[in-house]
Amino acid sequence: MKQKIEELKDLLNKYSYQYYVEESPAVSDFEYDTLFAELQKLEEEHPEFVTPDSPTQRVGAIGEKFEEYKHKYRLYSLDNTYTYEDIVKWYEKLTAEYGDNVELVSELKIDGLAIALTYENGIFTRGVTRGDGITGEDITANLKTIKAIPLKLFKNVDIEVRGEIFMPKTSFEKLNEENMKTGEKIFANPRNAASGSIRQLDSRITAKRDLSMFTYAAIIEKGSEKPKTHYETLTYLKELGFKVNPNIKLCKNAQEVIDYCKYWETERTKLNYATDGVVIKVNQLNIQEDLGYTSRAPKWATAFKFPPEEVSTKLESIELGVGKTGAITPVAILTPVQLAGSTVSRASLHNFDEIKRLDIRIGDTVLIKKAAEIIPKVITVLQDRGHNHRKEIIAPEECPSCHAKLSTRPKEVGLYCENPQCPEKVKAILEYWISKDAMDIENMGPSVISQLYDLGMVRNFADFYRLTVEDLLKLDLIKEKSANNIYEAIQKSKKCTLPRFITALSIRNVGKENASILAEQYGSLEKLMDASVASLEEVRGIATKMATDIYEYFHTPENVAIIKDLLSLGVVPEHTSVVKSNKLKDLTFVLTGTLSTMTRSEAEAKIKSYGGKASSSVTSKTTYLVAGENAGSKFDKAQKLGVIILTEDEFLALLRKR
Ligand code: NAD
Repeated sequence: MKQKIEELKDLLNKYSYQYYVEESPAVSDFEYDTLFAELQKLEEEHPEFVTPDSPTQRVGAIGEKFEEYKHKYRLYSLDNTYTYEDIVKWYEKLTAEYGDNVELVSELKIDGLAIALTYENGIFTRGVTRGDGITGEDITANLKTIKAIPLKLFKNVDIEVRGEIFMPKTSFEKLNEENMKTGEKIFANPRNAASGSIRQLDSRITAKRDLSMFTYAAIIEKGSEKPKTHYETLTYLKELGFKVNPNIKLCKNAQEVIDYCKYWETERTKLNYATDGVVIKVNQLNIQEDLGYTSRAPKWATAFKFPPEEVSTKLESIELGVGKTGAITPVAILTPVQLAGSTVSRASLHNFDEIKRLDIRIGDTVLIKKAAEIIPKVITVLQDRGHNHRKEIIAPEECPSCHAKLSTRPKEVGLYCENPQCPEKVKAILEYWISKDAMDIENMGPSVISQLYDLGMVRNFADFYRLTVEDLLKLDLIKEKSANNIYEAIQKSKKCTLPRFITALSIRNVGKENASILAEQYGSLEKLMDASVASLEEVRGIATKMATDIYEYFHTPENVAIIKDLLSLGVVPEHTSVVKSNKLKDLTFVLTGTLSTMTRSEAEAKIKSYGGKASSSVTSKTTYLVAGENAGSKFDKAQKLGVIILTEDEFLALLRKR
């Protein structure tokens, strides 16, 4: 047991050094905290093995760059938990001793670094890092470059203020991007970036970094008033001119604290600064004083840590995939690890530029993150740079599926397989056809598609609609019931909406949203297929490049043949336009010239959405001609036929009216 404790102590001390001093963590915080909790438990069971150098008895570590400064008042860490039960237990212990009137203040735990600022007579005189809590590094000069730190307070007080220095998330991303270009250090997270920036020997570098600070505690030596509660202290700090985080809640019981934690667990992603939990503090300062401290943390506070979104694991190898656009996608194959409730063994790496940018190599310990996306992403390499076990990841020259030579595309990142018959690419396109966003054909997955392709039964979209139940029964693991289900789902998809059909075609750069715009604009597949580049370019939201892609798609004979085939097999895309009202019913409009407030296509869409008809030529049936700048021959013809001519303003007034 003694040996196990020693091993854990050594490991945690090594991690702490890498984290605090080198600013390059080797593991995620969650892994550190888990090992820490294990050590704590073993030491509780065997107090005879507790030594003063144990991480459970100490706070952080002192950096080695700046002059050391012994704190006048000790700084502490915080005990932490990942469970709500522990919050309830902690609160119950408090109320058992101090009664039900114990109040709690919940604050966001800012993920930065702790700092102690000294003000004498309202003037900022010294700023020191927390270090090991007893001694820190004097970084006064650098702190003076941070605008959120007032050099002079609104009152002439003697006070020591504690707060958290942090770097906004957007600034952190920008800094890493720039450092990537210049080959400088890449920080694992905003906390490390803040710490690395504030501990620069050259203050001019710190001044260039976007740093800020929230203050959350104070020791008032000489002041006009002495607060009685923590909440009052925070208000007082604001009055002195400090930045205090606005998301502070006075809570009357543990449930209110838990509600606050639950709310911020999701809402925090919207904040532009990193938070790793909630700090819960006893509000009444006399109770705080009575409770006191352990060797490393106050007994009057605790931290609830949010479930981890990041863990570290080993990059075992790289697998290559081919997407529906032909893009070659490297996928990281990882040593399986638990993250946010599931086992993760694959993560996205996007493209080879990204691999180069992050200098990721096989054998590295990488930090992976699950955020809004379902597929986790590799964010960075932890501490491994410079080790010689690392194997470089070489970008392929050939497609892993069809062995065609890969190419790059102007203005696009990554490598592409341009072979239209590439099996993996075709499979990806077929998979997209059946997907939820496209034709939404249920009961079929990638393995069915892969078999259908490999057996030569489906090579294009139309082939799906020629499949019989008997064909499907030839597939592995497909029995009568599922064959029928697949067949039915395919038949059901024949009746589909135009936006879904356009989406399903996998036209380059045309996703769900653009497909809806095109359907709304053209109203039918035939009209869209006939559209010229000029007409497509006029559609709001469709860029020039996209207009060309769409035009080319519908003018490639193979594509046209498949579409015709689909139509003859009974796949009928229909479009019901979003009609806002019928106020223009039975009215036919023709547009000429250039309108100043909208494109012609937009005007036509508006007419259609109010139930009117937009036509391209003036006849005796035309109700109105809308004439913009430089109207052409249609104007003369309308005049001749006695068609009412509207200016753009009159047209707009008509749309507004009725
Ligand atoms: P901590 O960060 O868990 O909590 C204490 C700190 O919280 C305070 O010092 C203060 O700086 C900060 N804090 C933020 N907002 C606050 C607020 N509103 N009120 C009060 N304090 C606030 O503890 P620590 O001692 O700084 O660091 C230990 C933690 O650091 C570990 O739990 C672990 O997650 C991480 N760590 C990670 C590694 C690694 O290798 N990944 C190594 C060492 C430590």
